[in-house]
Amino acid sequence: MTFKELGIIEPILKALTEKGYTHPTPIQAQAIPILLNGKDLLGSAQTGTGKTAAFTIPILQHLAEGAPPRKKRKIQALIITPTRELAIQIDENIKAYAVHTDIRNTVIFGGVKQESQVRILNRGVDILTATPGRLLDLINQGFISLKDVNHFVLDEADQMLDMGFVHDIKKLIKKLPQERQSLFFSATMPKSIIDLSKQILGDFERISI
Ligand code: AMP
Repeated sequence: MTFKELGIIEPILKALTEKGYTHPTPIQAQAIPILLNGKDLLGSAQTGTGKTAAFTIPILQHLAEGAPPRKKRKIQALIITPTRELAIQIDENIKAYAVHTDIRNTVIFGGVKQESQVRILNRGVDILTATPGRLLDLINQGFISLKDVNHFVLDEADQMLDMGFVHDIKKLIKKLPQERQSLFFSATMPKSIIDLSKQILGDFERISI
């Protein structure tokens, strides 16, 4: 199985080849077809399995193909992750895979001044990776609107619940459009994650690595 056989489009394939990725990892081979189909997903996978590319490639492909019709430079994909380090890593991955597309991405997290983050947001981005606290802050100050989000990812969902972010997550979900593709990734699958998935995801598929 190759990325080409998974139906990945040329500009993304080119970026993957340049990174030296020829073959999808097992989680990518499982998740990418489901996500390209527009389905919701609950994935159980550890860091190191290639899960970041598993969820970012289909988002990039949907946006690059303009389905649903692009609202260029509005936030159409939102990825929430518990820590600044993970947020930065995800954003860097997106940047690498998007290099031959016109998609713009950025990352926001707490613990630093918000000014430079706001400046980049004001120029317009298509994909935002964020930690929950800073995201809610900037929404409450009117710097971010989630009304055009049609792809939503909750990464490291178990860690997010362990860190006490459940109320923040529920607040954020209420601000998202109903019509969207949603995915959860979690290293472990306690009942709390399954319950949250049933509340937040639509009709979803489950995969585990
Ligand atoms: P992740 O689990 O998303 O943190 O990815 C783990 C590492 O695997 C990262 O350094 C990725 O750059 C790398 N990686 C992801 N997908 C592939 C692939 N298909 N082939 C080779 N390396 C990959």
